Amino acid sequence: MKIRTGFGYDVHRLEIGQDLWVGGVKIDHTKGAVGHSDADVLLHVICDALLGAANLRDIGFQFPDSDDRYKDIDSMILLNRTIELLTSKGYTIINIDSTVCLQAPKISPFIPEMQKKISEATDIDIEDISIKATTTEKLGFVGSEEGISAFATVLIEKP
Ligand SMILES: [Zn+2]
Repeated sequence: MKIRTGFGYDVHRLEIGQDLWVGGVKIDHTKGAVGHSDADVLLHVICDALLGAANLRDIGFQFPDSDDRYKDIDSMILLNRTIELLTSKGYTIINIDSTVCLQAPKISPFIPEMQKKISEATDIDIEDISIKATTTEKLGFVGSEEGISAFATVLIEKP
């Protein structure tokens, strides 16, 4: 049995009038995240952590933003393709732990829905998908509401 850990970090700029997608859930807010895809920072860090754990480079390498196929793509599709890549290397996911850093709005009420959406899309047990939320006490680019960031760590195994 081989057990490996992976880590992911991502940032997106926030702009007025953009949609705010976090963990596959659209959150109603004056500002949203800017990106080539739907800019879902939480799904991106989960992808990056999984890819890192399997030594498959990163999300930008696997799904380049120079490729028009990925323009405005639902990041849940990227997560599913990431899981397919891991499966093809013989890995299964043990658990995911993540933190989203956002000053406003409060996203903790949406966490159960995010867990459900991710679980339904990926077949990972809700019990194995941890999502946490924090503000940065009004400090830095997150605190000034210029951006959203997230971190994730995962464990994967190969029998
Ligand atoms: Zn991203």
